[in-house]
Amino acid sequence: MDSPTAMLEFNGIPVSGGSGVGRALIYEETHDVRAAAALPPRDVEEEVATLERAVQLARNDLAALHESLAANKDAIAQIFTAHAAMLDDFLPLLSSTIRDGVSAEHAVQTVIHAAAARIARVKDPLLSQRSKDIVDIGRRLNRALRGMMPEAPAAAREDGPVVIVARDLSPSEAVQLRGRNVAAIVLEQGGHTSHTAVIIKSLEIPCVTGVRELTNVVTPGQMIWIDGSEGRVVVEPDAASMERAVELGQRYERLEARLLEESGLPAETIDGHRVILLSNIEYPLDVEAGIARGAEGVGLYRTEFLYESEGGLPDEEEQLATYRSTLERLKGGRLTIRTFDFGADKESPIAPDEPEPNPALGVRSLRWCFEHQEPFRMQLRALLRVAAEGDVRIMLPMIGSIEELRRAKAIMAEVAAELEAKGVRHEPHPPVGIMIEIPAAAVTADLLAREADFFSIGTNDLIQYDLAVDRMNPRVEPLFRPSHPSLLRLLQGTIQAAEAARIPVSMCGEMGGLTIYTILLLGLGLREFSLTPGYIPRVRRLLRGLTMLEARRLAAECLRMSSADEIEALLRARVTPIGAG
Ligand code: PEP
Ligand code: MG
Repeated sequence: MDSPTAMLEFNGIPVSGGSGVGRALIYEETHDVRAAAALPPRDVEEEVATLERAVQLARNDLAALHESLAANKDAIAQIFTAHAAMLDDFLPLLSSTIRDGVSAEHAVQTVIHAAAARIARVKDPLLSQRSKDIVDIGRRLNRALRGMMPEAPAAAREDGPVVIVARDLSPSEAVQLRGRNVAAIVLEQGGHTSHTAVIIKSLEIPCVTGVRELTNVVTPGQMIWIDGSEGRVVVEPDAASMERAVELGQRYERLEARLLEESGLPAETIDGHRVILLSNIEYPLDVEAGIARGAEGVGLYRTEFLYESEGGLPDEEEQLATYRSTLERLKGGRLTIRTFDFGADKESPIAPDEPEPNPALGVRSLRWCFEHQEPFRMQLRALLRVAAEGDVRIMLPMIGSIEELRRAKAIMAEVAAELEAKGVRHEPHPPVGIMIEIPAAAVTADLLAREADFFSIGTNDLIQYDLAVDRMNPRVEPLFRPSHPSLLRLLQGTIQAAEAARIPVSMCGEMGGLTIYTILLLGLGLREFSLTPGYIPRVRRLLRGLTMLEARRLAAECLRMSSADEIEALLRARVTPIGAG
């Protein structure tokens, strides 16, 4: 008789709500594997044959990926066709390298990495970005060579729902899970505001992060239950836990269905104060998820995904087409497009010549754009052109000083003048707003409000920089406190500065979607929330159940308190949670 495997429980960071059960699929990165180089000469042809089988596996997988994404009419499907063609191009060189007497894995590492490094050095930014595709192909081949499923999500479809268990996922790996049979995701790394976490939330897959060593504990195929709302991971759940998992899953689904039915109701308090709910998006396709939940437009379009999803930076015309299609999908709703926010947690298309000691404090975001003016200007050209076609607002990330705002606007004016000279239709003066995500910007919000058309508070970074807590590091996640009195003062100051200058202020950080903070934010004066679409219904439900007077009183009470613990305890006591939150 088989001895039953013991049930194991872990707690992590609740990132994306809901309950999911499935068989574990361990997703491993192989880019840092150092393969043994030497190969005895007699094994050469066998090794070449192994390589050819791996290439075939990788090709099959790319074809499956392409097929499933093409069904979604997703532009990113095209990239996988290009990857398959590149695989074929590499095959002769890889085979001849093996015949020189090295292992297949070593050949892949040396040949592919050398090719990627060569292309990365090319001056043309559009071409140099292709190095990421080559690295991707190398990883895929190595996974195939090591006998793993070359692409975890593709394998999922045949064997029923799977739970992806990984050390980490890149945002582009996460996006490939769209429409797959993935019941849940558990990661060892990452906090709840990492870019990967943001993507997983938008895919509405239950997810827990920060579960250290899990990939060493779980074996492939084991049953796992994830409660993404509570941050719980149960390996080999017993009968009682399985029952609870199913019951919870059904409860979440019923709640979501009821909340969705309320999408047509106005977002207003009992005493009639209107709030604007917008959505955060990464792809044009995401617009529909927001509209279905009653979003009035897009408050944050993260354009870095133009690069991350397609393996290269699209040119001006391609960007224009993407922005235009997003605008059209919105049918008159506002579209707030953020200029490139590359660096730190968002993979950059042009890697720095030397690794930076502190990327989050380095050449990221607008600083990157100032250093790489060609892609920045190209994006601005596309933005000014699409701005002539509807309610398009341009948002600058990571503004730390008025000089940066002025410099960005000056570049925009030059771009507008060029378009004018060429007779290209464009809007020279679209609204230009800034993200408040550096404490310096929050503290000087009154000065910035004189020259910005709107503010959007990015709490993911604002908390990171205010509290010196890396948003990517699960070890310091408990210190990432939206309820910290310092943050409350920064929020209050920013909102008051915007009100005084009569410019709109919204919040697009993840804090806006955490319902225990909704009343507080409303009480602080926030009237616009830009949210991951899945969180819109619960924020609306909460707003519709309260009055402005109680929100103001609660905010005033919070502002008098001296610790994050006290503030959080007060909010938890006063706010009835709505599902995961
Ligand atoms: C933020 O920092 O809060 C934000 C919305 O931007 P991102 O998460 O893309 O850095
Ligand atoms: Mg940010």
